[in-house]
Amino acid sequence: MKEISCTLLVIGAGPGGYTCAIRAGQLGVDTVIVEAKKPGGTCLNIGCIPSKALIHAANEFRTIAEIATGGSRLGIAVGRPELDLSKAVAWKDGIVARLTSGVSGLLKRSKVKIVEGWARFRDGKTVEVETELGLQVIRFEQVVIATGSEPVDLPFLPFGGPIISSTGALELKEVPGSLVVVGAGYIGLELGTAFAKIGSAVTVVEAQAHILPHYDVELTRPVAKRLGELGIAVLTGARVKGPGPDGGLSIEAADGTTRRLAADRILVTVGRKPFTQGWGLDQIDLEMEGPFIRIDDRCRTSMRGVYAIGDVTGEPMLAHRAMAQGEMVAEIVAGHKRAWDRVSIPAVCFTDPEIVTAGLSPEDAKVAGHDVKVGLFPFQASGRAMTLERGDGFIRIVARADNHVLLGIQGVGAGVAELSASFSLALEMGARLEDVAETVHAHPTLSEGILEAALKALARPIHV
Ligand code: FAD
Ligand code: NAD
Repeated sequence: MKEISCTLLVIGAGPGGYTCAIRAGQLGVDTVIVEAKKPGGTCLNIGCIPSKALIHAANEFRTIAEIATGGSRLGIAVGRPELDLSKAVAWKDGIVARLTSGVSGLLKRSKVKIVEGWARFRDGKTVEVETELGLQVIRFEQVVIATGSEPVDLPFLPFGGPIISSTGALELKEVPGSLVVVGAGYIGLELGTAFAKIGSAVTVVEAQAHILPHYDVELTRPVAKRLGELGIAVLTGARVKGPGPDGGLSIEAADGTTRRLAADRILVTVGRKPFTQGWGLDQIDLEMEGPFIRIDDRCRTSMRGVYAIGDVTGEPMLAHRAMAQGEMVAEIVAGHKRAWDRVSIPAVCFTDPEIVTAGLSPEDAKVAGHDVKVGLFPFQASGRAMTLERGDGFIRIVARADNHVLLGIQGVGAGVAELSASFSLALEMGARLEDVAETVHAHPTLSEGILEAALKALARPIHV
């Protein structure tokens, strides 16, 4: 049995853990990171990156297929495309391999020691790791728990065979003829849309009354419309009963009738849960907040010297939140004065069209007691959107009525994901409607929608 000691131990090399370790290493903190699988965690290996690769491949295929079957207003003619999904998956795997080996390189460059294996707490100052070379004991002064999350399964639809999670969906080598998606949240709609675009007959079953129930209906309406155009059947207010007698799925529809849905594959995407099992949480007895580890504004847990970051600490379970927490904790461990004071954590849903939210929606702002001004600019009136053949969607800006300080910016539209940084920057800088209105926005870009939404809120729009 080998023993090492360090100042900082990070458990889990997902976006939270690896960011924390890299920053700590840069600051000269003697750091060790333990990872049981591959560096990059859910995000790089089976989450953000591979899903966006598949979505890109599906968009490319769909665009060519639409031109081939319906002709093009742009005068382009092509033959019917064919997709070799195994090649697309190999391309996606290549991106994942490049990024994960890049993370290993960055960790090494920051002088972080990487230990491969499964970590388990012995007590509040010691972890043991089962490595290929035997048991490794690591003594540390401070520790960061960044163990992430895993998919929730439904007891009557356990993963296996045709019932797959997002991980299984991202590894399929052939396009399923029919795909039933359970859960119209982030993953269900991102991946369901991609599979519909490459030829699957997709049905989405959602328990709530609306798709993407975390978002307001005004924002999700353009997505719901596009799902219909793509031929995706959406059954909201429906309850899954279990597998059908001859494969497929048995559901109770919103009107109370029982329906059987044919399915070559059933993709279950009903949420993710924090990964809190099997690594000795019971040995350190941390205070919990529901299923998550309770943290304060410095990501400190209830035990001195023990921090937690990322998905294991709660919503929103997003990679950029985990990274921002990781960077902050590394600086705290290095002795800097830091605390979580971010105005917003933006969220992007890579549906078609994409949805971006930062800060408060009009409804959230009212619930929080604000009197608000709201400006909305529809992409129908955007020259840039027309040149991209996508006039669906809008940008919406929410500001305090009294001093015009921005409270939130939301957008839905093709390609709006890339506008998310402007939304967050404006909120983080404490911008007012006038600041946005007096910023020259380049023409022709979708970002002019932000300017126009601010002008609309100020009751002096130019282009609508
Ligand atoms: P994780 O990335 O889950 O990493 C945790 C790591 O810890 C894992 O590598 C695990 O092997 C390791 N580990 C756990 N326990 C131990 C142990 N005891 N010993 C050693 N190692 C251990 N978020 C976005 O912001 N944008 C997106 O577009 C997006 N798309 C997504 C698409 C899909 C299909 C999925 C599933 C998720 C997506 N997410 C997205 C969410 C994002 O992946 C997570 O929020 C993010 O990965 C969380 O980072 P983390 O560091 O907290 O944990
Ligand atoms: P989600 O919470 O986004 O959506 C789950 C959906 O399943 C909800 O609409 C819920 O009402 C529905 N549901 C729950 N139980 C059901 C049942 N029995 N029958 C039918 N519907 C049911 O969860 P997800 O899509 O699994 O994604 C998990 C998390 O991963 C997200 O919350 C997000 O934090 C992260 N993620 C982010 C991105 C992104 O940032 N673009 C992409 C993918 C995943």
